[in-house]
Amino acid sequence: MLGIKIYIVRFEGVEEKILEYIREGVEESIRGGICEIIDDILELPTKAYNSLRGQYLSELLLEEVSKYALKLSPESGTKYIVLGVADVDIYSPGMNFIFGLAQCPGRAALISLFRLRPEFYGDEPNQDLFLERALKEAVHEIGHTLGLKHCKNQFCVMFFSLHIGMTDRKSRFFCDNCIKSIRDIFAR
Ligand SMILES: [Zn+2]
Ligand SMILES: [Zn+2]
Repeated sequence: MLGIKIYIVRFEGVEEKILEYIREGVEESIRGGICEIIDDILELPTKAYNSLRGQYLSELLLEEVSKYALKLSPESGTKYIVLGVADVDIYSPGMNFIFGLAQCPGRAALISLFRLRPEFYGDEPNQDLFLERALKEAVHEIGHTLGLKHCKNQFCVMFFSLHIGMTDRKSRFFCDNCIKSIRDIFAR
């Protein structure tokens, strides 16, 4: 689909093993993309923590990812984006919580694993389901960095997830319309 490099960087507290699953899945969903895990671990900015809510302000975490992205310099001319992975509850002004956030278009994306585990909803632990959810949210936010907006197709990965049921219903792939939009964006 495109020649883009996607770096995955984790915040403190994220289990390393989940990153490899996301890496493989992202390469499958973003065809032609090359995904690489970075060893560095980002610190959670203390100023992002809202003690009244018990949550982190997502915009400030995304800012950390964005700052980190500026420091990276892959081979000249390579388009690249950075996906930050956190495992704390994140929110955005006006929203009780969010699963992720990204610059649209831009270089920085962020997902949180915090609300993706079935246990969070009182269900039995299910590692496969957890990983699948993480991958969908990762591909969704990467899609935003490419310039994609939300899609009306509820099975498309770019469909907006207001709750976990909507994440489970959608696939981890872009619909034909979104693939066409990506092609148009890269043809510009
Ligand atoms: Zn979105
Ligand atoms: Zn779509």
